Amino acid sequence: MTEAPLKLFNSLTRKLEVFEPVHAGEARVYTCGPTVYNYAHIGNMRAYVFADVLGRTLTWKGYDLTHVINITDVGHLTDDADAGEDKLEKAAAGSQRSIREIAAHYTAAFKADVAALNIREPARWSVATDYIDEMIAFAKSIADRHCYMLDSGLYFDVSTVEDYGRLARAVTEEGEGRIDAVEGKRNAADFAIWRTTPPGEKRQMEWDSPWGRGAPGWHLECSVMGEALLGFPFDIHTGGIDHREIHHPNEIAQNQAFCGCGGLDDARNSGAKIWMHNNFLVERSGKMSKSSGEFLRLRLLVEKGYHPLAYRMMCLQAHYRSELEFSWEGLGAALTRLKRMVQRIENLKARHAELVSASMPDASNWSHEEGWSLKQVQDDELESWVDFFINFDASMSEDLNSAIAITVLEDVLARKKVLPSETLKVVAGMDAVLGLDLLGLTRSDLRIRPVSATITEDEIEAALAERKQARAAKDFARSDAIRDELSRQGVEVMDGDPLGWEWRLER
Ligand code: AMP
Ligand code: ZN
Repeated sequence: MTEAPLKLFNSLTRKLEVFEPVHAGEARVYTCGPTVYNYAHIGNMRAYVFADVLGRTLTWKGYDLTHVINITDVGHLTDDADAGEDKLEKAAAGSQRSIREIAAHYTAAFKADVAALNIREPARWSVATDYIDEMIAFAKSIADRHCYMLDSGLYFDVSTVEDYGRLARAVTEEGEGRIDAVEGKRNAADFAIWRTTPPGEKRQMEWDSPWGRGAPGWHLECSVMGEALLGFPFDIHTGGIDHREIHHPNEIAQNQAFCGCGGLDDARNSGAKIWMHNNFLVERSGKMSKSSGEFLRLRLLVEKGYHPLAYRMMCLQAHYRSELEFSWEGLGAALTRLKRMVQRIENLKARHAELVSASMPDASNWSHEEGWSLKQVQDDELESWVDFFINFDASMSEDLNSAIAITVLEDVLARKKVLPSETLKVVAGMDAVLGLDLLGLTRSDLRIRPVSATITEDEIEAALAERKQARAAKDFARSDAIRDELSRQGVEVMDGDPLGWEWRLER
């Protein structure tokens, strides 16, 4: 049995396709990054967890990965189509800080969330304002044949490229209705690639250009940075599913114009071979937003006592193309699942240490960087592990089915009568793909004391006494409910603790 071919869902063709790299042995991936005018919410972070799992899977499959994530610090308007103000200009107008300060602050906060979620750093963070010259050169090269001037800027005429809007499938009338009419536009879907500063107005972010002083359009940025850093066509372009409707069709149109390419029956003409989109994280009340309701930042989760990697687990439990509904119960269940895995791994580590100190045959110098791959397991004839690897590989190769891959890893952890060092090497190999940091985490890392924890010792003792009674009466539902309630208050009940501690306050 051999490795499964990697199949990915291409939004452009709406089909699963076998990944075949543009450059042998390499994978070049571009991910639309955050607009740094505010904190990212956990829905935004789902997009980067997804891109990270994609990148890790490409590495697992042996490709040399080059991943670029951009930072949008200019050009993104308050509406994805051509309406509204620049998000950063707007944020600065309401504060004492400059756009640069605002962008630096939210970029740092974003990178902290990336690290907390164990998302690997990309090869490049490309910052939009570092590419203004390249954007002007790109726009110049397509302006004559594909663009026209209006008072408000240089507009791209979408009728000048074949198959405009194919990624979105249909430029519906409803869709068009959403796009604000700009007087003089030739087609409703035409968009600004350079926005000229209106006379008498001064923007913080503006540059000279052949089309007057102004700022680049948001879609232009991604086309330019993708081309500059990865070269057209590169392998995979990712983003959230909202980008399938406006941002990416517009990027594609610009890319076609730039390459002088034909229609999209050949996906490479779009600038990338495969376009992938993660579905949304939603709240029960609807779409997640930075402005309405409780603003779900990763930090809020931590304040409530949930480790960031519990959120990563929650993302991995769902398929990236399915909508995922956020709930605190769901997050709690993901945390419990992670705790179980980490607890089992701690036991394996302890058992391994015992074997080493007793100079047992297993006393190899295992270190947790060392993980097995499918190939190693096959080459070294570690037969009892081969099926686990094949199943794991097959799951991830089937459009990144991490939900199934986690269950394979749980089966690995449930195996009895195997040397702990072997199990740990399998975990290391598989977790390099899932990125749950299973070998780095300890149980105590996962016990985060909610900032609101105020429970007193007397209250804890009273609850535990009640729980004992419930258990004596075999009312396990009640006893579990008491334990869960204590856990919500930051108290971990420690049944059967070898040192006899009945509970501890989580920190
Ligand atoms: P933004 O900073 O608004 O440009 O968004 C950053 C990324 O998050 C983009 O790829 C969006 O498509 C994605 N995104 C926005 N909202 C959600 C959500 N609720 N769930 C998943 N991804 C989202
Ligand atoms: Zn983009």
